Amino acid sequence: MANNSHSAETAATAAGRAGKIRVGVIGGGQLARMMIPPATHLGLEISVLAEAPGMSAARAADAVGDCRDAATVMQFAETVDVITFDHEHVPQEVLAQLLATGVQVHPQPHSLQYAQDKILMRQKLSEIGVPVPTWATVQNPAELDAFLAQVGGKAVVKTARGGYDGKGVRVVTAAAEAADWFAALEADPVSDALLAEELVPFERELSQLVARRPSGEVALWPVVETVQQDGVCAEVIAPAPAVATTAAKLQEAAAAIGRQIATGLEVTGVMAVEMFETLDGRLLVNELAMRPHNSGHFSIEGSITSQFEQHLRAVTDLPLGSTAMTRPAAVMINVLGGPAEGPMPVRYNRALAAHPAAKFHSYGKDSRPGRKVGHVTVIGDDTAQVLQAARAAAAEMENG
Ligand code: ADP
Repeated sequence: MANNSHSAETAATAAGRAGKIRVGVIGGGQLARMMIPPATHLGLEISVLAEAPGMSAARAADAVGDCRDAATVMQFAETVDVITFDHEHVPQEVLAQLLATGVQVHPQPHSLQYAQDKILMRQKLSEIGVPVPTWATVQNPAELDAFLAQVGGKAVVKTARGGYDGKGVRVVTAAAEAADWFAALEADPVSDALLAEELVPFERELSQLVARRPSGEVALWPVVETVQQDGVCAEVIAPAPAVATTAAKLQEAAAAIGRQIATGLEVTGVMAVEMFETLDGRLLVNELAMRPHNSGHFSIEGSITSQFEQHLRAVTDLPLGSTAMTRPAAVMINVLGGPAEGPMPVRYNRALAAHPAAKFHSYGKDSRPGRKVGHVTVIGDDTAQVLQAARAAAAEMENG
């Protein structure tokens, strides 16, 4: 149970009295689901506030309710020692009420706001000197046209809030192509502008996963290459193979950015820093996710400490584990709902038989075309071989 009168204490010290630490995760998707095994290993209790019954993390879902409803979240918080998240959708008003009760919240709302609002994030990163694409806020079509003229006629326009998997991101050559979003701003109680950015001609996309605990300790995994298809992360290659610079230089630059953001924004827990590597080898930060992230799923088998275990350690202010890789290469491939029918164990039968070295993860979701229903990871010595094996296993899992 929460002991709200000891707000200054970490969850770990509170547990010294209560005997157990209970982590409460808001959101019942696959990220919460994948926190359950390491919670068990670490001896932590875990509870989930799920949006609906039968979600991915249903086995730990002690509560079902709307995370935007303060009363629901407050009631859930009463039952746990520390609150963390499977997503970034809990409104700041609800988070402020949570903090006022004295419950531990990680990441803290003042950090989380930068993952909730792309304009705030761009402002903050620019302020602390992190390299980002050229950007501007645009409140009306005239401002967007002016920006387009400035960046050569093509720009990326984004809604500040609520986007995911590329929804809320549009490449435009004229302001009229974002007319519906400008119209929607009129009725939006929170956002009064869109984010406009240069269309970065990037070589590839990278993600630097970082964990930070409240006491300040930081741990960084090897920077990974992420491959998107239709705005959705499809493949992750760890570590990112060297292209424009040496692997060591790339890692050094990515880690410096990850550390700077984690420290500068006082992030607690795991954060993914999504970046573009430009054609001339520069890194520009695109997006922040303050929670375990798709680009870190490889770490379950590929690292000594997975992002899910590390997140639990970080939010309970326990010492962080080693982020070294278990093998020289790891590849994670997302499995989307496909044409195959029937229950998962039956559908996966052939894939499991054909690929005994691959690790299959099912999220316990109903299969719908395009929906992330699981992933496959293969680890080994050689990136090209591991990539080929992971692709074959994922295709078989997807197609049944
Ligand atoms: P979401 O939060 O919906 O994932 P992102 O801001 O991460 O949205 O953008 C989704 C994808 O769109 C990126 O992974 C990248 O491929 C592309 N993208 C976003 N911003 C830019 C940009 N400024 N230049 C080029 N491509 C971009």
